[in-house]
Amino acid sequence: MPNKIMSINAGSSSLKFQLFEMPEEKLLVKGLFERLGGNDEAIFGYSTDSAKESTQLSISSHKEAVDFLLKFLIDKNILETLEELKGVGHRVAHGGEEFPKSCVIGIQEEQGIDKLCQLAPLHNPVNLVGIRAFKKALPDTPQVAVFDTSFHQTMPAKNYVYPIPYTYYEEEGIRKYGFHGTSHQFVAQEATKELGEKLTDLKIVSCHLGNGASICAIKNGQSFDTSMGFTPLAGLMMGTRCGDIDPSILTYLMKNKKMDADALEAMMNQQSGFLGVSGASNDSRDILKRASEGDTQSQLALDIFTNRVKTTIGAYAAEMGGIDVLIFTAGIGENAEKVREMCCSELDFLGIKLDAERNKSGDLFIQQDGKPVYVMVIPTNEELKIAQDTFELAK
Ligand code: ADP
Repeated sequence: MPNKIMSINAGSSSLKFQLFEMPEEKLLVKGLFERLGGNDEAIFGYSTDSAKESTQLSISSHKEAVDFLLKFLIDKNILETLEELKGVGHRVAHGGEEFPKSCVIGIQEEQGIDKLCQLAPLHNPVNLVGIRAFKKALPDTPQVAVFDTSFHQTMPAKNYVYPIPYTYYEEEGIRKYGFHGTSHQFVAQEATKELGEKLTDLKIVSCHLGNGASICAIKNGQSFDTSMGFTPLAGLMMGTRCGDIDPSILTYLMKNKKMDADALEAMMNQQSGFLGVSGASNDSRDILKRASEGDTQSQLALDIFTNRVKTTIGAYAAEMGGIDVLIFTAGIGENAEKVREMCCSELDFLGIKLDAERNKSGDLFIQQDGKPVYVMVIPTNEELKIAQDTFELAK
């Protein structure tokens, strides 16, 4: 009987899915439900090799979406029986220190994910909704959790403890956790496959540059440092997030502008980054276009963004005592040649030099011949990584 593995990413009003045949890693169908839980009708869209459709549905909850999805898979002959489904893998935002690896979700694990809702109040609760809906519909099928934070649990304490009173770490769990771990691990594995090298032999800097953006230093095959922190707000500048700023700016604004916690959170998460600096857009395509037309604030936004990427690459090369491979991934990293060019300019002293033509065409390898650092453009695929982990654990 074929091994089919479902990969699930549940958001507050959405549920994305991809179904793979394993171990061939063949994508059979992918799709998403949107507008779940609202007053409007939900939207369901899917695509396979031969079909693509989008329809409105009168369902309102994640549970109903799961029931609809399972029936849809049978009706469309994508599955003959539900027993073909050997496991369901769920993306879970926060695994804290409790979950250094992906795991099968039993009662204890479910309680653990629930407890971590306080560290990820926007994400873990909806991830749990997805898990519970599938558990109810498929009680005998292994459910697996794949955490955004797990990969970074190998960081040394000097890289995850903040220099504030230690009791905040001990009592509140305030430390750097890091995110995008599934993506960083996936592209690092893909790079080593391409290079025919062992992951443990390489010093890798992986740049996940999307609407959310983070960089990871991977040493001996493990995460050694990463730019996101206690929350996904830290580190690089992003689409609407500020990344690292002087913390005193917050107390200044509280005192002088009478801004409260909610206003500050909104300012840092939704009104900053590309959007805040340019005053125009959170989308890098708009920023690139406006900058090329001479808009100075968009140019400044681009300069800040790429400078932060560059200084982080430099910092991580210093931390690891060198760099063998630099990877660009996610929406901006995979598509924006200009951004890659700006991030790598002046890094020749580290052995990083792009070939203009290869960078333009977005080749797998974009470094100049003879340069010691491989610079690679690798599409991320978090859903496949979730399916790989789920397949291994469900065995
Ligand atoms: P997320 O998953 O964090 O929402 P993505 O990885 O989808 O983000 O990346 C979104 C970003 O990728 C946007 O800023 C978008 O402008 C950028 N992007 C996508 N395609 C291109 C392109 N062809 N050129 C430049 N930027 C692009």
